Amino acid sequence: MKKIIITGGAGFIGSHVVRRFVTNYPDYQIINLDKLTYAGNLANLKDIEDKPNYKFVKGDIVDLEFINKLFEQEQPDAVIHLAAESHVDRSITNPLEFVMTNVVGTVNLLNAAKNLWKGQYDQKRFYHVSTDEVYGTLGDTDMFTEKTAYDPHSPYSASKASSDHFVRAYYDTYGLNTVISNCSNNYGSFHFPEKLIPLAIHNITQQKPVPVYGKGENVRDWLWVEDHARAIDVIFHKAANGTTYNIGGHNEWKNIDLIQLLCSILDKKLNRAEGESAKLITYVTDRAGHDLRYAIDATKLKDELGWEPSITFEEGLEKTVDWYLHNEEWLNNVTSGNYQDYYSEQYTNR
Ligand code: NAD
Repeated sequence: MKKIIITGGAGFIGSHVVRRFVTNYPDYQIINLDKLTYAGNLANLKDIEDKPNYKFVKGDIVDLEFINKLFEQEQPDAVIHLAAESHVDRSITNPLEFVMTNVVGTVNLLNAAKNLWKGQYDQKRFYHVSTDEVYGTLGDTDMFTEKTAYDPHSPYSASKASSDHFVRAYYDTYGLNTVISNCSNNYGSFHFPEKLIPLAIHNITQQKPVPVYGKGENVRDWLWVEDHARAIDVIFHKAANGTTYNIGGHNEWKNIDLIQLLCSILDKKLNRAEGESAKLITYVTDRAGHDLRYAIDATKLKDELGWEPSITFEEGLEKTVDWYLHNEEWLNNVTSGNYQDYYSEQYTNR
């Protein structure tokens, strides 16, 4: 039996990874380690919480003593590390929190793994989940490959870049069996509505202004979250030690075009006149240091491990919109309380 600690399993991507591993690998023991910050929500895992191969542990990866004790007690065979502060806007307001969780938290986990697995690194695996934002911004035509030099611009991407460097350093220095993947923007169910797509769906359905940074010219590659979880599964099981893979959807969208598409999907689903939802689009002052374009070349992952996205963006977006329309209670729960304070601070006085 394989015991895997998945960190950040109550978050958006983490919950999809936990569900996939618990469901597809009944002979694995999955421990979801999560601090349950504002972004962590155990309601994301209601359907699998009673499975015998699943366990939740509440804890902070920044707490060194707790992490060391947990590794001693549980004796995991692998770590899939997703826990992070993940929202760029919040990193601009509070960079230190990002350094603590994303950098110090990652090094705490690496250290615990290094100490516990001494002498048996070849049988163990530390998988670090990262972002394409570490590569910085692109011109019109080029793409990020695994060889692109790191050039982070936001406190979030700087903290993720730093954590990636530490993971590589533990492979190079100590021989810890590590793997890293850098993925583009994800979308799908259970996505906290501070991020572009769920925020837009939420506001359009509520007839509230839909904030778009600058002129909406920024370009992002989008990947359905369940395809990301499947890529993590493939890489976890098949990648060689010390390797890195880019994960992406070959699916670039200008923010404004994406929002227009969502508006027209929702016009139809909500029986509104065509163009009605688009009237809600409201341009707000651009995010400081906003990278213009990200695009991922995921050829290595396709050629070496055979992974490709399973659905088109149009299919994924339709599924996502339907999920939000059918899960109003989930949405209402996460948009009450502190969310209101954050929201009014972020999008007013501009
Ligand atoms: P998220 O914000 O939805 O979830 C993060 C989870 O980590 C939450 O459950 C939170 O409670 C937990 N967490 C935060 N600080 C913690 C701490 N100190 N100790 C323990 N748990 C803590 O994030 P996400 O969007 O699901 O992203 C998951 C990972 O994937 C992150 O590492 C992120 O950098 C990476 N990533 C995200 C995207 C994306 O589009 N969302 C794209 C590429 C990579």
